[in-house]
Amino acid sequence: MENETIKYERMRDDMIKRQIEARGIKDNKVIAAMRKVPRHLFVSEALMDQAYSDYPLPIGEQQTISQPYIVAEMTAALELTKNDRVLELGTGSGYQAAILSQIVYRVYSIERIHTLLIRARKIFDKLQYHNIVIKYADGTSGWEEESPFDAIIVTAGAPDIPQFLINQLSPNGRMVIPVGDEHVQSLVRIYKDEKGIIHRTNLGGCRFVKLIGEHGWKR
Ligand code: SAH
Repeated sequence: MENETIKYERMRDDMIKRQIEARGIKDNKVIAAMRKVPRHLFVSEALMDQAYSDYPLPIGEQQTISQPYIVAEMTAALELTKNDRVLELGTGSGYQAAILSQIVYRVYSIERIHTLLIRARKIFDKLQYHNIVIKYADGTSGWEEESPFDAIIVTAGAPDIPQFLINQLSPNGRMVIPVGDEHVQSLVRIYKDEKGIIHRTNLGGCRFVKLIGEHGWKR
């Protein structure tokens, strides 16, 4: 057991060095969170030894846990601070939510596949990540009752940016969302300034599973 813990700690350090720092991620909060969260617990036992490798992995239900670098890049792009409240669409394995939970005040995460949500909740309980609130729903309309959010992260590819999400961003709010067709997307960063004006930048190409729902893909 002890040896296993040390083995995975080494793999995490290696991942940070080769995949995250070497590619220019400088946000210390993101790096500290990724050094701490045991990513191998978010995949099936058979895949644990690959959990720190430089690629996405299947998590069942035809969904995937993102490549570590993508998690780092998206999290860094949100420019988070410790009092932030963040909305995530697509809980999946729960790994991205876990990373966010180490940096911000509270994470709200929505997932449309029930079995994935139940599995994620068990891991959050086990690791005592108590500041993650999850909901079983189509997240493309956001989470009105808990809005506005300081940041929103969408971890599935959308055909367009749902206006609901932009509306639920607070002034000075940041959002990252993959936008494109079903095969390839651009990672888009949205900044809503103090006056509510939207600024959009393109962070580069990416590949995500589909965001399925009323304001996403219709299956
Ligand atoms: N952030 C996840 C990545 C999961 S993959 C992780 O760290 O593991 C994307 C997830 O988005 C899938 O689990 C999929 O079921 C979910 N998803 C797709 N459309 C959704 C929607 N409209 N609302 C909520 N979740 C959605």
